[in-house]
Amino acid sequence: MHLRYSYRIYPTVGQRASLARTFGCARVVYNDALAARKEARKGGFPYPKSTDLQKLVITGAKKTAERAWLASVGVDPLIQSLRDLDTAYRNFFDSVSGKRQGRPVGLPRFKSRKDSRQSLRFTRNGFRVRPNGKLYLAKIGDVRVKWSRALPADPSSVTIVLDPSGRYHASFVVDVEPEVLPEVDAEVGIDLGLTTYAVLSDGSVIDNPRFLRKAEKKLKAAQRELSRKAKGSKNRAKARRKVARAHAKVADTRMDWLHKQTTKIIRETQAVYLEDLNVRGLARGRLAKPVHDAGWSTFRRLLEEKAARYGRTVGIVSRAFPSSQLCSACGHRDGPKPLAVREWACNECGVRHDRDLNAARNILAAGQADRLNAPGGPARPGVAIPRQARPVERGTHLSDPPRTDVRAAGAGGIPVR
Ligand SMILES: [Zn+2]
Repeated sequence: MHLRYSYRIYPTVGQRASLARTFGCARVVYNDALAARKEARKGGFPYPKSTDLQKLVITGAKKTAERAWLASVGVDPLIQSLRDLDTAYRNFFDSVSGKRQGRPVGLPRFKSRKDSRQSLRFTRNGFRVRPNGKLYLAKIGDVRVKWSRALPADPSSVTIVLDPSGRYHASFVVDVEPEVLPEVDAEVGIDLGLTTYAVLSDGSVIDNPRFLRKAEKKLKAAQRELSRKAKGSKNRAKARRKVARAHAKVADTRMDWLHKQTTKIIRETQAVYLEDLNVRGLARGRLAKPVHDAGWSTFRRLLEEKAARYGRTVGIVSRAFPSSQLCSACGHRDGPKPLAVREWACNECGVRHDRDLNAARNILAAGQADRLNAPGGPARPGVAIPRQARPVERGTHLSDPPRTDVRAAGAGGIPVR
């Protein structure tokens, strides 16, 4: 399975200039190819093939006066940029034909130098990790990396990302074997909420850390400062980076926390069941901020990815399942209750319930029932096969389960090759 390992990198002033130039060239290539495809479509010509496009917007373009500067950067990131466009088109077509699930994907759009996130991808020929731990990027040079944890294997590609707060990261894709953890008996249902973050069917509770709310004062102050700076001024750009940095810090803290929680759950339980929440629906209106702050989608994604990696199961219970209406003791359906009702007694059997714990127990029962009835039987392995490599583990995250191979080699970042 493919995993992403991300590390902060520190390019020199000169390297940053080279990177900026390469970001620009990759963007131009992407936009030129997109324009060519749009034109072909308008003119009723067949959809141009990638190889033809590559000739047109890279090899051919280099020979023209207005695109000659494309030759000043490495060719690998430019080709990868075209691949990204191919992927964007494929996602669009698959979305239209219904092959791709989830929210609809639109046509690819032109990129702008003003986009808050700039990125480049290098494949095998375009990068190397030096024995001294530096990251060699073709036509950029040897870049300093903060190896917060070791790479478990040779990476197949690396994406260099510049985020709005001005930080650079190198995100490696590494192919690793799943490492199935020894089986445990425990299975849990989880009821997610905003008052408490999660209540588990075994009675344990995860408090809501509310990172955004805690940082709100600082964020507002930074935002106010930004609004006072003159448009287009250097101070305004500085203030904008400061706002972005403050937001990035909140996101980092939240991500670390989510990693810790999901790792603990996956290690301690064989199967986890969750409700399929309509996060996008909930994230509109009054609850938008707290719902966003809770990061439920990330929580679920991390659980699914870690389950796939460690041989555990994640089951998703339908949104329509009335988890808070059923009595988990006798199964009696007691009707809907307003959110304010935190505790209630079953009309049928008289058992008193904590609302969330009862819901978690119902989710567990429903999940287990679904699994027994699933095609292929109850032995169905972990649900989620990550659709593609996604940021499963950030490089700065040190609290994930230690890898024995890494330990043997000495912790603290062993660069490959
Ligand atoms: Zn009952």
